[in-house]
Amino acid sequence: MKLLQSYVKGTWEKPTDEGSPIYDAVSGEEVARISSFGIDMAAALDYGRKVGGPGLAELTFHQRAALLKALGSFLKEHREELYQLSYRSGATLGDSKFDIDGGIGVLSSYASKARRELDNETVYVEGPVEQLGKSGQFVGQHILTSLRGVAVQINAFNFPVWGPLEKFAPAFLAGVPSLIKPASQTAYLTARLVELLVSSDLLPEGSLQLICGSVGDLFEHLTDQDMVSFTGSASTAHKLSSHPVVVSRAVRFNAEADSLNCSILGPDGKAGSVVLELFVKQLVTEMTVKAGQKCTAIRRAFVPESLVEAVTEAVCERLAGIVVGNPSDPEVNMGALASQGQRDEVRGRFAELAQAGHLVFGDLYKVEVVGADPQRGAFISPLLMVCDDSSRAEPHEVEVFGPASTIIPYRDVKDVVALAARGQGSLAGSVVSADTSFCTEVVLGLAPWHGRILVLDPADARESTGHGSPLPALVHGGPGRAGGGEELGGMRSVLHHMQRSAVQGSPVVLGQITKRWVPGAERITGGIHPFRKPLSELRVGDSVIGGPRTITLSDIEHFAEFTGDTFYAHMDEEAARANPLFGGRVAHGYLVLSFSAGLFVQPEPGPVLANYGLENLRFLSPVYPGDEITVTLTCKQIKPREDVDYGEVRWDVEVTNQAGSPVASYDVLTLVAKQWPLQPS
Ligand code: NAP
Repeated sequence: MKLLQSYVKGTWEKPTDEGSPIYDAVSGEEVARISSFGIDMAAALDYGRKVGGPGLAELTFHQRAALLKALGSFLKEHREELYQLSYRSGATLGDSKFDIDGGIGVLSSYASKARRELDNETVYVEGPVEQLGKSGQFVGQHILTSLRGVAVQINAFNFPVWGPLEKFAPAFLAGVPSLIKPASQTAYLTARLVELLVSSDLLPEGSLQLICGSVGDLFEHLTDQDMVSFTGSASTAHKLSSHPVVVSRAVRFNAEADSLNCSILGPDGKAGSVVLELFVKQLVTEMTVKAGQKCTAIRRAFVPESLVEAVTEAVCERLAGIVVGNPSDPEVNMGALASQGQRDEVRGRFAELAQAGHLVFGDLYKVEVVGADPQRGAFISPLLMVCDDSSRAEPHEVEVFGPASTIIPYRDVKDVVALAARGQGSLAGSVVSADTSFCTEVVLGLAPWHGRILVLDPADARESTGHGSPLPALVHGGPGRAGGGEELGGMRSVLHHMQRSAVQGSPVVLGQITKRWVPGAERITGGIHPFRKPLSELRVGDSVIGGPRTITLSDIEHFAEFTGDTFYAHMDEEAARANPLFGGRVAHGYLVLSFSAGLFVQPEPGPVLANYGLENLRFLSPVYPGDEITVTLTCKQIKPREDVDYGEVRWDVEVTNQAGSPVASYDVLTLVAKQWPLQPS
């Protein structure tokens, strides 16, 4: 039988003992054996810090993103093999797609978000420059740099592919090497995933390591620069987050734990309504996908008191159509739990929960199974309970990590918000209703206890990704019982792997550090116009002054007629005089903007290929007929793109009047060729 190996220090290492068996969830046969006995945890961490981190540090955010994209494409070519292995964990093809395609999707999604949202650099510059002194020569800027340690990633058994990938992608982008520890029950799938990733030859040395089996003494060797991202039960999260080394060295610890997620049916979910159908369909999906072994699954289904009967009937009817059995059989739509042990756990927990209600669907010990031996596989029927007394603690406190849910009656909005809060913090909640006032009240009431809330109604149902799907762009995590952590959420999770530092200094120093021109720093004037310089010649700080140009009343009238913008402040002297801000006719802001472009633009073909937008535009004070405007254009930031022969240039534009007072300021965004004349491609 295959003894799983760990991938550490750039090689596959076998444990020095026989390991413990892992069983097929469907046939009960041994799939593999697992142990980390003999693996040197301290050396693995050290290797990550000394080899993985420095290797990643040589790459920019965009280069790391390109590797993530390539890793995603590589895995896509091999996903069939992963699907086959995934059947052994009890997952149907649909479940596996959720796990495997979902994980690959996280890689590609992070790759493209990073290319759009991060600069092609290694340091992240956050927010605007803060002026700290009167003259502008003392300023502050937040920057984020990669932690110099290892991201230890401990995963739960239910998503052996998505789980590791959703932690690896942001760590990799942040430049922090990952050390993955999968849950033992399904570690054979994660091990194969890592084998594939390693075989792609795309990974920088040391950027990814794998420990199969227990973590041994790893926690003893963590430092202030390492971090731990944990997914699993609240009790393990508590144990690990209170480890003396984690506490004394303030090791960053992110926990994704269990949660008693809820879904709330609105009062408009009457029998026969589309809203009721949506609620029921979603509930049954959440109960049966991955046989309910989803941290985001709906455990509590809140229903208006008067609708309990109708909802129960509709859910039972739908559950009756669920075929339990061998997940590789196309007829089957719910596979097995991950192990016999997990089934014992579900039975025990459900018996505890059932003290607060009565079972209306399913049986803890009996289930009809298609294509497999019910004695050997970890099969269980879907279990639906109706709560007899919603004030009881069990429905709000006992998590049954399987295909189980409880219908709980509620009286009104206040009642349901209070009941939902008794879950003490959840990953995901949903409200199903077309009554927007009800939804608003519920969302705002639920929000302090929830990491994500879906409002499902007939308008968004077709496109909705559903209650249980964490999305790369949105935060995954929740307060309180859910662990208090935060994963995904776009670039947020990348930044969790970096240290934020407030740097204070002069504009020149901050400009050097951030590779940007900072107001207050010197401008480089004279010489050729910066619009005539390709990226190979352009320097941050290159600047040109245009103007002055006088704005006349006839300019304003001409602009008004030409554009159709005949707003009274530009055209009606008497009305404009009554305006408390202007006291007379003023030029259009857009006229000032257009004239300033006319003062800095170079008409002939040149390296500036296109203007693709403006940002931070502010009209700071009125411009009156007869005023003279002068414009100063300064190259603020240069961002060459990796795979094309041009890049982005951000220009600072300041428009002043004859008194030298600023009247407008903004950033112009352009695409500029790397070389000029253009090189034939
Ligand atoms: P668990 O026992 O807490 O195990 C989770 C992970 O922690 C596994 O990799 C496990 O490894 C490891 N682990 C256990 N004890 C450890 C220790 N002393 N030191 C280091 N690592 C240790 O959780 P589970 O019961 O398998 O998983 C189900 C739970 O996870 C459910 O409660 C579910 O709600 C929760 N979950 C949460 C999320 C989320 O995103 N919030 C996602 C999925 C699941 P071994 O397997 O080798 O023991």
